[in-house]
Amino acid sequence: MTELYAFNTGDWAYEYSSMLRLKNPGERYPSLCPCYLIDHPEGLVLVDTGVSHDLVANPAEYGAYGAPGFADFAADDVSVEGRPSAADAVADAGYDTSAVDYVVLTHLHLDHAGGITEFPDAEFLVQRDELAYAWWPADPVQRRLYVEGDFGVLRTPDYEVTELTGRHDVFGDGSVRCVPTPGHSPGHQSVVVDLPETGTVVLAGDTAFTEEAVERDLQPPFAWDTEAALASTRRIRDLARREDADVVLAHDREHHEDLPTPPNALE
Ligand SMILES: [Zn+2]
Repeated sequence: MTELYAFNTGDWAYEYSSMLRLKNPGERYPSLCPCYLIDHPEGLVLVDTGVSHDLVANPAEYGAYGAPGFADFAADDVSVEGRPSAADAVADAGYDTSAVDYVVLTHLHLDHAGGITEFPDAEFLVQRDELAYAWWPADPVQRRLYVEGDFGVLRTPDYEVTELTGRHDVFGDGSVRCVPTPGHSPGHQSVVVDLPETGTVVLAGDTAFTEEAVERDLQPPFAWDTEAALASTRRIRDLARREDADVVLAHDREHHEDLPTPPNALE
């Protein structure tokens, strides 16, 4: 029986208008850096890996080149105190981290790709467009969000990476599906999960930041392509209506709080 766990690897208080364009400038929105574990009868799937606690502790020494951009713009806003890393969260829920078969990355921003090195035995499922852009983002704000220390290892022969170029059915039974939702970033994807009791859940990542953003078509000012992001938001809305699905946005704190607290899982 498939189950879904929701973890929070860190708290990130955003400037409100940086996530919803022109909305409440100067106010804070207390957000989070989640990841999810899907326990499917045929294997374990981790969706995203949260934020790296090593990055938060010492941005200057993180990865081969450090992450000075992080120190500049987010260091004071992110706290990992009392939060588990992705691997610790998986272990706390009672699973061996080396038993994670797949890691699906919605995208490679630092609050989603921070725990990659904690899962060296997994197969990584990432959209090709995301992998390509992460190495050399044109936009200076996007450049701060892609930290080489997070995802650089994916280029090493030790890591197994499957480059996706569209939809992907993880187990071939339709119960865990990757669906491209570009816009927030070039290769952003969402994950659609069928659960036996709850029904369909869409882990929509950063397709939009909050419920209000979905309802009112609000995107952050740094979206890679705002029009593409709005089209992806509409796609998620349509999919939710068609499949009577619940949408879980990564950074909507209420969405996260509505999910069971580990070791409890959504069934
Ligand atoms: Zn993002």
